[in-house]
Amino acid sequence: MGAGRLLDSCIDLVLSRSCVGCDVLGTTLCPSCWASMCRQVGPHPQITAWPVAIGTRYQDQAKAAIIAHKEHGVRSLTAPLGTLLACAIATLTTGPTLLVTIPPHRDSVRARGADTTSLIAHRAAQVLTHAHQPARVQQLLIRHLDNGKHVGRSAAQRQEAIKGAFLPRQKQIVKLAKFAGYRIIVVDDVITTGATTLEAAHTLIKADVIVAGIAAVAGTPSHSWQSAT
Ligand SMILES: [Zn+2]
Repeated sequence: MGAGRLLDSCIDLVLSRSCVGCDVLGTTLCPSCWASMCRQVGPHPQITAWPVAIGTRYQDQAKAAIIAHKEHGVRSLTAPLGTLLACAIATLTTGPTLLVTIPPHRDSVRARGADTTSLIAHRAAQVLTHAHQPARVQQLLIRHLDNGKHVGRSAAQRQEAIKGAFLPRQKQIVKLAKFAGYRIIVVDDVITTGATTLEAAHTLIKADVIVAGIAAVAGTPSHSWQSAT
């Protein structure tokens, strides 16, 4: 799938306010800020067990867009963020794909009025399917423990706090038999240390689900990261 085609799928945004990246009036995300976000980054330094694809760095315009979508309900940003995720996923696999999202905290869903990562994942699935890569979102995990927010925790503290947070949804996993030939990608909006994503992937592996890779809209910058494009 060409990046141009994915970009085209995003151009039809109906824009009606100021850009979250630069405040220019009339758009929620102007073409210039969108172009600056379309830079995938290389492998995540802490995730080596699976192929990882990350749509953009979690900084500047991309960070502003994700926060606006997540915390301020700017739902017109679901489309570009979903497109970034789709672009990342398309570098991992080009065949039929199941997107498994990370279950959010219940309090977060209540405060935001939606599971924002799931919204982005559904949009990514639409973009991929439109580009002839069949994709579906499957909720294969539940959040078993409320381990609190990770902000301010070190990588080791995050890893410890997230242990045992997820459980497999066995009824949904049994239904995977209907999706023979689909590759399973664990998806999230932002990957920081990778602790949450890895815990989700490991929980799936323990439930005999084969995880083909991990993808995110954005990742926090690291000195060891290189631009992929
Ligand atoms: Zn802008």
